[in-house]
Amino acid sequence: MNPRQYFEKMPKVELHLHLDGAFTLEFLFELIKKYGGDSKIQSTADLKNWFLFKDFSHFIESWFWKNQFFREPIDFEESVYQTLKELSHQNIIYLEAFFSPWDYKKTGINPSDIAYANINAIRRAESDFGIKCRLIADITRDHGHENALDRLNEITQFLGDELIGIGLGGSEQKYPANLFKEVFLEAKRRGFHRVAHAGEVGGSDSVWSAIRDLKVERIGHGVRSVEDTKLVEYLQATQIPLEVCIVSNIKTGVYSNYSDHPFPKLYSKGLSLTVNSDDPTMFGSTLAEEYSILYNEYGFALSDISQIQNNSVESSFASADEKNTFKKMMNSFWINNKMLIEID
Ligand SMILES: [Zn+2]
Repeated sequence: MNPRQYFEKMPKVELHLHLDGAFTLEFLFELIKKYGGDSKIQSTADLKNWFLFKDFSHFIESWFWKNQFFREPIDFEESVYQTLKELSHQNIIYLEAFFSPWDYKKTGINPSDIAYANINAIRRAESDFGIKCRLIADITRDHGHENALDRLNEITQFLGDELIGIGLGGSEQKYPANLFKEVFLEAKRRGFHRVAHAGEVGGSDSVWSAIRDLKVERIGHGVRSVEDTKLVEYLQATQIPLEVCIVSNIKTGVYSNYSDHPFPKLYSKGLSLTVNSDDPTMFGSTLAEEYSILYNEYGFALSDISQIQNNSVESSFASADEKNTFKKMMNSFWINNKMLIEID
């Protein structure tokens, strides 16, 4: 078994994935046909080519281009259902996934209808494939802080078994975290889990603000914390987890290549790190690929990989019982398969 196949087979937990960037190409192609087609897309191969990452502005262009084909609640429900089916085939057993229901205002669809459709999809997928998914609504910096409380109000009715938290994505430098202090504190009062993208495009100040102003429980990306010794020490002492997405960071140009990426350095400092796939369809990656990078590019031992896999379980918002189940599944994988990669 080569390393990539090995990590495909390994049970995995994903903490940083955007459903809006994780659709299957096959399903998107069906939606394009449903809504009258697009002359540049005649096949899923064309779609794959279209989404091949060229630069950041093309990424944003293709992100909004595909959003126009999501027009009815059933489009969201079926897309999420197909995505979870695909992720369960990759042995992802549990994930906490972002969704951005306010990105579709142009198509006239109600954000609460999107939330409801996604919840239906994850219930169906859990019953059909056994994969567990929890939702984190991304209130998105670019939609402004002025109405952020209205966005929280719109989704609060769904807070429960499936929808468990809020996140803060979007333009990190243009809309600093402290603008969203009030909505995050209110979300905490209402019982939402809280995470924020920080230290991806922005520097360590952005991470400090996410911790101090927003009181987040995890940091999305957080890799630029490496630039601030005091912050690295703080993250080591508090063990606030970082949701690291290596392929994403390289595709979007935060780092130019694997050797520039600070993952090994942050790991050596004792931070609680996890690996994640961010927008797997749009970056052409998978969670197994992220683990393969640790093994192939950074020479991590299997014991370190097991530790990082375990960090994802511990850093998740799953219940204690669920965490125990996931750890048992992972342990039995290691016991049964440890030799296979070494023989190869
Ligand atoms: Zn992200």
